[in-house]
Amino acid sequence: MVFAEKKNVIQYGRQSISEQDIQAVIDVLHSDFLTQGPAVSLFESAVSTYTTAKYGVAANSATSALHLACMALGLGVGDILWTTPITFVASANCALYCGASVDFVDIDPLTYNVSVEALSQKLSQAEKLGKLPKVVIPVHLCGLSCDMEAINKLSKKYGFSIIEDASHAIGGKYQGSPVGSCQFSDITIFSFHPVKIMTTGEGGMAITNDQNLAEKMQLLRSHGITRDPEKMINPTDEPWNYEQIDLGFNYRITDMQAALGTSQLKRVDKFVARRHEISHLYGSILENMPVQTQYYPDESYSGMHLYVIRINKNKVNKSQKQIFIEMREAGIGVNLHYIPIYNQPYYKKMGFSKQDFPEAERYYEEALTLPLYPDLDDGQIDKVVSSLANVLSV
Ligand SMILES: *Cc1c(COP(=O)(O)O)cnc(C)c1O
Repeated sequence: MVFAEKKNVIQYGRQSISEQDIQAVIDVLHSDFLTQGPAVSLFESAVSTYTTAKYGVAANSATSALHLACMALGLGVGDILWTTPITFVASANCALYCGASVDFVDIDPLTYNVSVEALSQKLSQAEKLGKLPKVVIPVHLCGLSCDMEAINKLSKKYGFSIIEDASHAIGGKYQGSPVGSCQFSDITIFSFHPVKIMTTGEGGMAITNDQNLAEKMQLLRSHGITRDPEKMINPTDEPWNYEQIDLGFNYRITDMQAALGTSQLKRVDKFVARRHEISHLYGSILENMPVQTQYYPDESYSGMHLYVIRINKNKVNKSQKQIFIEMREAGIGVNLHYIPIYNQPYYKKMGFSKQDFPEAERYYEEALTLPLYPDLDDGQIDKVVSSLANVLSV
């Protein structure tokens, strides 16, 4: 069943655009450069400064940035990448783009993030089998950082690289540092799709403290072409000379998008604070309902991209599907983040077994995403919780 987009439906997420944002884009349209101009590097340094990391490499999507990150880390045929099954497909597809294979690690039932215990156990088994991953992608689900210190310790022991998929998590913190500081990872990825915390329309960024990785990603973002004589294989003195020294892509972001991003970044803390405010409201009302909400460890301040509830099946005598349909009928644009990736037809044929991911399966049978974005007003918040109370008959 496909639900038509109705005007009065409260969507699960949406952008918040100010007059300053609009003006920033217009200013670029009046300028000399629509792409590959100064707005992109300004945006990159604004985001990397915000996260206290050294380098930002902007791309036309987080999906592209994930691909660039995997390539920069040398992921290729014969290599293995691990991630969580409860994420958007892009967190895994980046491995397949590189000719590597993918495997999944089960989730933690309280944070919904990858389980560090399951990761640790799977690594020790993989070591015996000689099948250790080259790259692990922890995903900060709903904006809540994974336990990066613990994952970083495992990376030292087993020798894998770490890409944080922080598509949900700009504006969040872990152990007091901004998500994207890359203190415990090689590269962090942000998404600027309109449903995410801040937007560039389409867009993403890879953040790193490693100059070598940053330069590789810059090169691969634009066809693998360099104009820097120091990087050329056969530098000549022809002033027009450029060399393709690797096989790259056109993953560039435009200056209009970058200007929008720089403007949005100024309000990212406000966006996240408002998301927390709404989440607290939800949380206090949902306490009396037969649902579980995400557990927030003290060490983390979530970016709060998504508000996922888990329906307590022992206390509710409606199916998840029935609840979903009735919420949509009430005009609440609930969603389900996410279908476990190994259940997707394209992945199923790789021979995954549901039994290997009991927590992800349980989560998938109970999860429901409620609307959450900064511009939700009190009336809409009331409507969401009263509709939920009605549908759950409490
Ligand atoms: C949205 C999302 C992506 C992809 O982002 P795009 O910018 O749309 O390519 C990747 N990973 C996660 C977890 C996401 O939510």
